Amino acid sequence: MKYITVYCASSSKLNPIYLTVAKKLGKLLVENGFGLVYGGGSVGLMGQLADTMMSLGGKVIGVIPRFMCEVEWQHKGISELIITETMHERKAKMAELGDFTLALPGGVGTMEELFEIITWKQLGIYEKPIVILNTNNYYHYLIKQLKTSSEELFIRPQHLNLWSVVKEPEEVLVALENDKKICDDMRKFAKI
Ligand code: AMP
Repeated sequence: MKYITVYCASSSKLNPIYLTVAKKLGKLLVENGFGLVYGGGSVGLMGQLADTMMSLGGKVIGVIPRFMCEVEWQHKGISELIITETMHERKAKMAELGDFTLALPGGVGTMEELFEIITWKQLGIYEKPIVILNTNNYYHYLIKQLKTSSEELFIRPQHLNLWSVVKEPEEVLVALENDKKICDDMRKFAKI
């Protein structure tokens, strides 16, 4: 089974459009035989995605730091819960377990996770596809900022290939496959 690591919001007080998309994505992942690796929470888009996949018989692995379990933030009805000692261990474990990374809309926690994984990929210590699901154009300004950073040469233009952006959950799996080809080529060229 292939696993997808998903970063997404812990907030539930959202425009229902985001919750609907998380549900749609969960269904698509189960239908296409993907397991989920995520932050192990029971609320927000995290909870919505995990609940949807569990209700459809999918496989869901949560990775959560101990201090969050101490305040009962963990999801109690998923296939497997991995407890880490620190946030950094959690992120490393999530990156290791998944074959792909996907960011859904989220707050600073999600954006921090996304930027860290992009940074790791830029440094060559993460070599898997990264896709951003830009539901409702939520990441408009973030994507614009990344382009500005590239135009101003803070990001090398070729590094804009380190991630791809899609609008609809239906486009996610195709983008991951396309991105996988780019990642494989990058690895091949690195060895030449
Ligand atoms: P955000 O995008 O700011 O909502 O953050 C998502 C990330 O915040 C998750 O990956 C967790 O690190 C963390 N987080 C915040 N609240 C919770 C919660 N109630 N349960 C689990 N994780 C949470």
